[in-house]
Amino acid sequence: MSGVRSGVGWDSHRLVAGRPLILGGVELPDAELGLDGHSDADVLTHAIMDALLGAAGLGDIGVHFPDGDAAYEDADSIALLGEVLASVRGAGLAVVHVDATVMMERPQVGPHRDAIRDRLAAALGIDRANVNIKACSGEGMGFIGRGEGAAALAIATLEPAGQPEPRAGASHAHLALPGLGGKRRHSGRNPPNPHPAGSCGGSDEPLTRWQSKRGG
Ligand SMILES: [Zn+2]
Repeated sequence: MSGVRSGVGWDSHRLVAGRPLILGGVELPDAELGLDGHSDADVLTHAIMDALLGAAGLGDIGVHFPDGDAAYEDADSIALLGEVLASVRGAGLAVVHVDATVMMERPQVGPHRDAIRDRLAAALGIDRANVNIKACSGEGMGFIGRGEGAAALAIATLEPAGQPEPRAGASHAHLALPGLGGKRRHSGRNPPNPHPAGSCGGSDEPLTRWQSKRGG
């Protein structure tokens, strides 16, 4: 097997009372509702598992962990992620990077972002710097906006195991991006933010924002 490859994963679960809200293996203590599902319904970890399986060409989460299987009732999804990782490594691949977006109206993911990154990075055996977690609300639209459920989208990048680390400043220098230490090549202004007060990346904004928008 040769070459870097990527896979995408998507998952959604219903939000219900009487369940813990677990994202990336971290329980959010400020959640009124939790995610419902056969396992612990960790929507973020499930999306990442599907992204890893996709990148490795190993099918999907439903093939590996069937819903009807009693073995996975209330299963710890981080443990299931470990099984996926073993399959990925068994295919001769190593995880390079994971990026994911959680879509959920409330509570805020931002305060828990680093804890989630740490938990996932440890489970994946990679640096926290290589696990990026973002969050969006639904801006009151659809099942996410109405608070009926949460969804997550993830992309995983894999490379053949045993690939030597590139030397700093060497082969990947041409990949430097504007705003990430690379020099901007265009002279114009930055384009306006398409979501000036928008739903994405706003997970650090105060809780009162959506409360006031919704009249409390
Ligand atoms: Zn799921």
